[in-house]
Amino acid sequence: MVADSSVFGDLVGQKAAVDEIRRAAQAAGRIIRNDTGNTSAMTHAWLFTGPPGSGRSLAARAFAAALQCSAEIPGCGQCRECKAVFAGSHPDVKIVSTDLVTICATEVREFVAQSYLAPACGNWRVFIIEDADRMLRRTTNVLLKAIEEPGPRTVWILCTAAVADVLPTIRSRCRNINLVTPSVGEVAKLLTERDGTDPQTAAVCAQAAQSHIGVARALATDAQASGIRKRTLEILVSVRGIGDAVIAAEALTNTDYMMYGKKGKTKTSLAEKVSAEKTKKMEALGLDAAGKIPAALRNQINVDSALVKRRETRAKRDLYDRELIYLESYFRDVLVCRLGSSVQLINPDFEQSIRRRAENTQIGAAIKILDELEQARARLAQNGAPATVFAAALGAVTADVNLF
Ligand SMILES: [Zn+2]
Repeated sequence: MVADSSVFGDLVGQKAAVDEIRRAAQAAGRIIRNDTGNTSAMTHAWLFTGPPGSGRSLAARAFAAALQCSAEIPGCGQCRECKAVFAGSHPDVKIVSTDLVTICATEVREFVAQSYLAPACGNWRVFIIEDADRMLRRTTNVLLKAIEEPGPRTVWILCTAAVADVLPTIRSRCRNINLVTPSVGEVAKLLTERDGTDPQTAAVCAQAAQSHIGVARALATDAQASGIRKRTLEILVSVRGIGDAVIAAEALTNTDYMMYGKKGKTKTSLAEKVSAEKTKKMEALGLDAAGKIPAALRNQINVDSALVKRRETRAKRDLYDRELIYLESYFRDVLVCRLGSSVQLINPDFEQSIRRRAENTQIGAAIKILDELEQARARLAQNGAPATVFAAALGAVTADVNLF
């Protein structure tokens, strides 16, 4: 079968959502053409929900492309408009995504101001807010006004994991598109058809990522991501008693080691990171990094160290959360083995260790460990000290097991 080359081709296992988006885009086309046909499938505010990895932001971009598309059937994926949206260069499609803990209020305010202007060249002005749950209340209030009294050709698309993540006042004004977790088979097929990953690797990666498309893709194509998973599980296997838990927690919270496999202290200071980012910006503008910065460019080149620090905090938090997901996946495998289920293992490359563990772990104990790991994720999300959280979780991992 030939892969679907439309903008919806990567949205695997999302038939209901894709159908609704297509209908909306067609109705939007009728509005633009002043067609008298039914336009009720289109509205100006949308809330795209779905678990992480289901493809929310991809769906939002696909919708934006379909709204701007110049082909007869919207969302062709081939025309200039579709391509510009996916390249991030369409002047009428703006995206707020954040690698910070909260969304920047100034950016949202700027969007709201722009939303009252006519589109620059496209059919609609489309604003996508990814991680809409990261908006502070005062930012949400700015947005609320724009959603209540929208500009004539404006479309807002908010993305979050669940409907409950946004305030009821916003929620009630948005139409909801809900995405589901695709099956392992669907994700594996996508990796093979789109990225050319060989089917066997694709199957292992889709399974290990538990159908999270982004993680599966990273595992298949990015050596760093697969290294983090392998190191996490190796550290876990090395824990044989309470005493090891502290050492293991230290390793799991050593970001240099987890990301690059480098032992020892190679930590770069904040000042070094700020300076490296500055150099990169200067080089991108064709300036000599050691030379003087022209006054007119100073604002563009200056790097806010507070921002660098916040971004770093967020990246670390994401890394720790991912490690905990890998730890959970191991004990989910242990449980599956213990129950004698024929379900495929998430971590087939650790099968031997998993089977041995399953022989020595009671079902109740495995469930308790999974609970502990889930609680550890919650504690980290609430700003718990990572080393303490990991030490406690790994301690719990050894509590009911008499392995050796
Ligand atoms: Zn198109």
